[in-house]
Amino acid sequence: MTYKNFPMVPKVMFGRGGFNQLNDILAPKRLGLHAPFIFLIDDVFKSNPWITSRISLSYDDRIIFVSAKEEPKTSQVDALVEDIILQSKQRPSGIIGIGGGTLLDLAKAVSIMITNDGGAADYQGWDLVKNPAIYHVGIPTISGTGAEVSRTTVLTGPDKKLGINSDYTPFDQVILDSELTKEVPKDQWFYTGMDCYVHCIESLTGTYLNTFSETYGQMALELCNEIFLSDSLSDTESQEKLMMASWHGGMSIAYSQVGVAHAMSYGLSYLLGTKHGIGNCIVFDHLEEFYPEGVKVFKQMKAKHNITLPTGICADLSDSEFDIMIDVALGLEPLWENALGKNWKKTMTKQKLKALYQKM
Ligand code: NAD
Ligand code: ZN
Repeated sequence: MTYKNFPMVPKVMFGRGGFNQLNDILAPKRLGLHAPFIFLIDDVFKSNPWITSRISLSYDDRIIFVSAKEEPKTSQVDALVEDIILQSKQRPSGIIGIGGGTLLDLAKAVSIMITNDGGAADYQGWDLVKNPAIYHVGIPTISGTGAEVSRTTVLTGPDKKLGINSDYTPFDQVILDSELTKEVPKDQWFYTGMDCYVHCIESLTGTYLNTFSETYGQMALELCNEIFLSDSLSDTESQEKLMMASWHGGMSIAYSQVGVAHAMSYGLSYLLGTKHGIGNCIVFDHLEEFYPEGVKVFKQMKAKHNITLPTGICADLSDSEFDIMIDVALGLEPLWENALGKNWKKTMTKQKLKALYQKM
């Protein structure tokens, strides 16, 4: 047995209002007057001085606002990298991602592609990155994905949706300031929060489970149950706890894997552009066969927060479209193996998967 040797985020600041200390954290990391810091910020904050007024831009530093309407694409990463390289006199001092999983993943990918040749699509997979990334900082503004701790950056490329999984992917610094999440719309809070819940269920019921993953997963699951089912938390407590649930949920899957919901949700995302959080919810709602207890509690959470999920999203798909989705989902072998064991191909056939998609 050979064990994996994973990097972790080496520096993390936790605390409400901690975003105020961003400039102090960055200052010693500046490599030169013309080596800028590049801030990639979700464009929901574009006219929000509450965020931007606290970033002091010096010398050639730049803010680039990016829309999170669509999930990150390899072509988008390549365009950002080209723009940054063309406009900077020197290699940047660092990339700072401020937003949800979309912006965090973009920041990770851009920091890698500044020091590696070719395009981002060349590095989708496991351990393909050759050179260390430049300094990169993640500042989540919505909680659940675990992208702030993970060793991957999920990108949609010309022929697949797959992460750049590498030792150079994790952030060098994360700032966890739950106050940044206070204006997340209710539905989106639920969808992204459920990403964390689903990470826990898939990790804790998976065949890859080990004590490392189990302990993080249990902690995150307890927090999710408290946040989404109890009435005893203040808004601040709930925001702080979801931020930590996301972190622990991400740590749990680092050493295990996700499962059926993620595999199927990747298929939906690739074909229909369905976003990760809501896609997981749409799928998970129909997976009682695989996760009976997890789905039962999910339905309670959904009811408690009056969440109505879209239905019939696969109603008008052609056979060839189903095939595309099924191929993307079944291509994620480690997810199926984690969920169903080594002989997963006997349980999960193309026909079976199609029948499941047809319910959605
Ligand atoms: P997101 O980044 O896509 O954002 C969702 C929506 O919330 C957007 O409209 C965004 O503008 C808005 N938003 C974010 N913060 C806000 C705030 N403070 N106030 C108001 N609105 C706010 O959402 P997400 O669910 O965090 O991320 C999904 C992405 O994360 C997907 O691309 C998925 O592939 C990726 N992901 C990555 C990992 C990983 O380990 N790298 C894990 C899971 C998911
Ligand atoms: Zn996820």
